[in-house]
Amino acid sequence: MSTHDNYSLFDDVCKFVDEAAKHMDLDPSLVEQIKFCNSIYKFYFPLKNGDGTYETLEGYRVQHSHHKLPVKGGIRYSSLVNEDEVKGLAALMTYKCALVNIPYGGAKGGIKIDPTKYNVDQLERITRRYTSELIKKKFIGPALDVPAPDYGTSSREMAWIVDTYEAFNPDSINAKGCVTGKPLSQHGIDGRTEATGMGVFIGIREAVSVKEDMDELGLTTGISGKSVIIQGLGNVGFHTGKYLQEAGAKVIGIAEWNGGIYDEDGIDVETIKAYQIKNKGFKGYSKGKFIENAGDLLTYQCDILVPAALENQITGQNAEMIKAKIIAEAANGPVTQEAEQILLKKNVLILPDMYLNAGGVTVSYFEWLKNLSRVSFGKLEKRYDMKKYETLLESIENTTGDSFSDDQKHAIAKGASERDLVISGLEETMVTAYHSMNEKRKEKKIKSLRTAGFILALERIAVSYMDLGIFP
Ligand code: NAD
Repeated sequence: MSTHDNYSLFDDVCKFVDEAAKHMDLDPSLVEQIKFCNSIYKFYFPLKNGDGTYETLEGYRVQHSHHKLPVKGGIRYSSLVNEDEVKGLAALMTYKCALVNIPYGGAKGGIKIDPTKYNVDQLERITRRYTSELIKKKFIGPALDVPAPDYGTSSREMAWIVDTYEAFNPDSINAKGCVTGKPLSQHGIDGRTEATGMGVFIGIREAVSVKEDMDELGLTTGISGKSVIIQGLGNVGFHTGKYLQEAGAKVIGIAEWNGGIYDEDGIDVETIKAYQIKNKGFKGYSKGKFIENAGDLLTYQCDILVPAALENQITGQNAEMIKAKIIAEAANGPVTQEAEQILLKKNVLILPDMYLNAGGVTVSYFEWLKNLSRVSFGKLEKRYDMKKYETLLESIENTTGDSFSDDQKHAIAKGASERDLVISGLEETMVTAYHSMNEKRKEKKIKSLRTAGFILALERIAVSYMDLGIFP
C-alpha cells in the first residue's frame, strides 16, 4: 500500500486490468498470472555523509513481467517512493510496452530520497551504490533488466549507472546497453531527453485529429488554438508544453509543487522554464497571476489538462470539479481508477499514461538497439542515400529540363540523421498505437481508451504465455 491516503497504484493498475479482462475471453488464472509482479527486490544501503555520520537509504527494483526479456523501466528518486508505487509503475511498464509493441517486460526502480536535499557528490555515490546492489543480484544487465530515467533522475544518473556497470563487467561487449537515457557522449541516442514529451505531443495531436471524437467533446480538430494547463514543468511537462505551443496551442496554466502560474493570454514555456531554473519557482514572474495553491489549477477551465508530475493527482476528491475536455496523462498514474469513472460520466476524454508517455520507452528501445549493434542509426546508409537521390534528381532535371531549387534538393537528398530516424520511429509507434487503441474502443463499444489499451496489451501478453503452452 502507498503511504498516502491508503491509495495503491498497484491495486489501481490491477483494477484496470480486471476491467479490460471483462471484455475478453481469457482464462482467469492467466489474468491472475499476468497481474503479479514476478520479482521484487527491496534493499537498504548506507550513505556516509561528509561529517562522518551515516544514513540508511531504502532502494527498490521490481520486475513485473518476465514474459519478454530484458525487462525495462525507469528509476525514480523521490521521498514518496515505496514498494506499492514501484510495483504499480513496473506493472504499467509491462502493459505500456505490450501496447506499443516494444519487446520488453516491465520493471521499475526507485530510491526513497528527496534528491534536492543531496549534493552532486552524494547523489553520485548513492547512484553508484544502488547500481552495485542491482549488479550483485543480477537486477541489471543488457539482457536482463535495463533501467532509464524517471522522476528525479536524468541522463547524469544514467551515466553513473553505465560507468559502474562497466567497471564490474569489463568483458561485456554489450555493457553500454545496461541502461538507456544516457548522455550522447556515453552512447546515448539523439532525441531521448525530449522523447517522452514529443510522444505526449504526438499522442495529443492524433487524438484531436479524429473529427467524430472531437465533435463529441464539442471541440474543433487540431492543436492550434487549444488551451492547455500543465502540472509539473520537469522533463516531460516542459517538452510537452514546448511542442504544443509550437503547434499553436496556448499554455494558460502551469502548476508546480511550490506554486503555479496562470495567464489567459498564454505563458511562453521556454521563458518560464528559464525563470523557474533561476528562481527555483514561478514566484515574482512578471506576467500572469501567481497561484499559491497550484493544485487548484487542475480544476481551471481549459481544453487539455496535462498532468506531468506524479500519480494520484486527480482523485475521487477533485474529479467532479475538473473542467478540461481532454486529460492527457503525461505522468504515470495521475488519474485514479475511482476518478476515471467520474470523468467518463462527465464525457472527458482521457489519453491514458500507458499509451501517452510511451515515447520514452520507445526511444530507449532505439538506444538499446544502437548499443547492441554498436553503430549509430544512419551511419552506413546516409551518404549512400544522398548520392542515390542526387542522381535521381539530376536525371529528372535532365529529362524534364526543369530544375529543383536548392531547398527542394536538400529536403529530398539530405539523407536521414540519427535524430531524423529516431523521430520517424517514435512518430510511427505513437500514431499506429493511438489509432489501434481508438479502433479497439469503438469495436468494443466502450468509452474508456484506457480499457481499450489494456485489452490490446493483454491480448499480446496472453499470446506469449499461450504460445509457450503454459495456458490454454
Ligand atoms: P521530472 O523530475 O523531470 O519532473 C517532475 C516535475 O514535477 C518537477 O518539475 C517537479 O517539481 C514537479 N512536481 C512535483 N510535485 C508536484 C506537484 N505536487 N505539483 C506540481 N508539480 C510537481 O520528472 P519527469 O521525468 O518529467 O517525470 C514526470 C512524470 O512522467 C512521472 O510520472 C514519470 O513517471 C513520467 N514519465 C517520465 C518519463 C521520462 O522519460 N522521463 C517517461 C515516461 C513517464
